[in-house]
Amino acid sequence: MRHDTHSATPAPETVTVQDLRLPNGCILCGGDLAVRFTGATAASYCPRCNWLSHPPVRREDGNVFMTQPAGGVA
Ligand SMILES: [Zn+2]
Repeated sequence: MRHDTHSATPAPETVTVQDLRLPNGCILCGGDLAVRFTGATAASYCPRCNWLSHPPVRREDGNVFMTQPAGGVA
């Protein structure tokens, strides 16, 4: 008995690394924030004040959204 399972699976959980630069994205000093997306997590780093954080990442329709913690920075 043959039971071939030829399921046309798309790319299985490809780990994409996206680098992105947010001008004035640092909520601490307002410096440029370097953000790196790795899969479902992200790491942001500010070279000016050495602030490193891991903001939560949300995926929708192939887009990646990073949720910055809204600190009361005016
Ligand atoms: Zn900073």
